[in-house]
This record gives sequence, C-alpha cells and structure tokens, in this order.
Amino acid sequence: RAREGGGGRRAWFEPGMHARVVEQVSLEHDLRGALERESGLWLAYQPIVELVTGGLAGFEALARWNHPERGNLPPGVFIPIAESTGLVVALGRWVLREACRQIVDWQDKRLPGSAPLFMSVNLSPRQLVDPGFVKTVRGILRETGCEPQWLKLEITESAVMDKAEQAIAILQELRALGIKMSIDDFGTGYSSLSYLHRLPIDSLKVDRSFVSAMHQSEENRAIVRIIVDLARILGFDVIAEGIETMADANLLRALAVDYGQGYHFARPLPVGEAEKLVIDEPPWRERG
Ligand code: C2E
Ligand code: MG
Ligand code: MG
Ligand code: MG
Repeated sequence: RAREGGGGRRAWFEPGMHARVVEQVSLEHDLRGALERESGLWLAYQPIVELVTGGLAGFEALARWNHPERGNLPPGVFIPIAESTGLVVALGRWVLREACRQIVDWQDKRLPGSAPLFMSVNLSPRQLVDPGFVKTVRGILRETGCEPQWLKLEITESAVMDKAEQAIAILQELRALGIKMSIDDFGTGYSSLSYLHRLPIDSLKVDRSFVSAMHQSEENRAIVRIIVDLARILGFDVIAEGIETMADANLLRALAVDYGQGYHFARPLPVGEAEKLVIDEPPWRERG
C-alpha cells in the first residue's frame, strides 16, 4: 500500500502508476490461472498466401485471450506481461502445441495432391534462449505428429541480435531438426549484416509499416525492393505482412515478394473459419 495521509508527504506511487501496477499484477495472476487451467486462451489463424498463384500457403497462429471479465484481449496487452514475468515460456509452449496439433489436423483435410501447409508461430526472445527450448520443441513435434518442415518459427531481429552467438546456436539446432524460420517485422529492429548471412533462416518478413508506406513514394518502394534483393542474395524468401488492399498485393507481386498476409486476404480467423479455407478454394482467388 502506498503511504498516505501524513501532511503533504508524497506517496510512493503516483495514483495512475499505482493503478497500473495493480492491473499488471492482477492480469499476471489471471494469466497464470488461464495457463494452469488451459481456459480462455485460444489461437486465431491468419492465412498466408502465395502471391503469384493466390493459393493458400500456410497460416500464422496469433495468440488470443478471452479474459473472464474483460473479454478478448489482444496479444499487445498480455504478451508484454508474459514476457516480463517469464510466463511467456509456458504460454509459448501452449501456443506451439496447439498450433502443431492444428496443422496436423488440417494437412489431413486438404485435397489429395495439394502441397502441405505451413504453420508460423511467434517466439518471444525469452523462449528462444530458455535452456529447455529445443527439447520442448522436439517433444511437441513427436507428441502431435507434426512434421518439422510444416512448422515455421518467427523471431524478431532484436531477439537474435541481443544474444547473437547463443541465438545462432539454438537456431542451428532447430534447423537441424528440419524446422523453418523467419525473421519477423524485418526492417524495424536492428540487424547486423555480418550476422544476417550466418543465420540459419528461411525467410524475411517485411514489416507492415513498409507495406503501408509503399504507395507514398519511390523511396518507400525502394526499401521493399532492397529487402527483396537482400533476401535473394542470402537465399531467403520474402513474406509481406499488412497487405490491406488489392493495390498492395499487386505492387508486392510486381516487386517479386513471394508470400503475403493481411486484411485484403483475411483477418486472423477463429479455427472454424480458417478451416473453411483449408478445405475450399479461398475466396480471394475469385476476387483476383
Ligand atoms: P506479428 O507477429 O507481426 O503479427 C502480425 C500482426 O499484424 C497481428 O496482430 C495481425 O493481426 C496484424 N495484422 C495482420 N494483417 C494486418 C493488416 O492487413 N493490417 C493491420 N493493420 N494489421 C494486420 P496481433 O494478432 O494483434 O499480434 C500482435 C503481435 O503480438 C504479433 O505481431 C506478435 O509479435 C505478437 N504475438 C501474437 N501471438 C503471439 C504468440 O503466440 N507468442 C508471442 N511471443 N508473440 C505473439
Ligand atoms: Mg509474426
Ligand atoms: Mg510480423
Ligand atoms: Mg508486425
């Protein structure tokens, strides 16, 4: 409790700050409970599209939390709390298991002869350097029957560069298992070019901010072009996030970006709606 009363002495906490701390602690407590009971957490799935063909290539799993009193909370609210308290290791394990289970289920429901889908899962920096991480991943693959090449882990530049040598060693172990990896929000963090070419990754994911700025100027388009060139030189493919219009999709296709994701195709979807895309022709193909 903050000190109060006492003739003009200052409280330890400003009132607003106090409320914020209480809110964080109560969310942390609720999140811990949600993880223990496995209740309220769910995954939304956003399709990732091959830009040339318009075909469904995979999904990104995005964590959601339906809080008993506050309703659905976006990851921007609870991931930072999970990060700062270490709960993100348990949360990440839950996300990974759920996403793997789901992709196994969906591969079976695909039309015979269609290429396997991949499932992208976001990793927090803390998970990556958690000592048990590779073992956890191996266990989840075995337990769910997920083929390693169906799984794609998304990590941010900063997560890798902060502890580069350690991170590279772990990424190499994951790569040896056959798992795919991409750098998320590429261009917004800091990447050392001397490390980038040593990273055992498969794709760069162009941050949404570059996609939304593309139409404003030739310089902004040049940024995307440079990322594509860099990826080609290093042997990575390119995924663009935040594609909101047909014009975005067309321009990115013209810039030879391989895959795209965004509201133009679909929002992150609950499992039932995502499954329709797995089974039927995706609606954006008819839209052109
Ligand atoms: P991200 O990995 O960059 O995910 C893409 C975010 O962009 C998602 O927000 C998605 O809903 C949003 N998005 C997709 N298409 C569009 C579009 O066309 N326009 C706009 N304006 N936004 C679009 P979301 O689901 O709120 O997730 C935010 C971030 O939270 C993610 O960014 C990721 O960094 C983190 N996150 C989500 N799930 C997990 C998780 O399971 N583990 C960890 N560690 N982080 C997660
Ligand atoms: Mg991501
Ligand atoms: Mg991203
Ligand atoms: Mg992003």
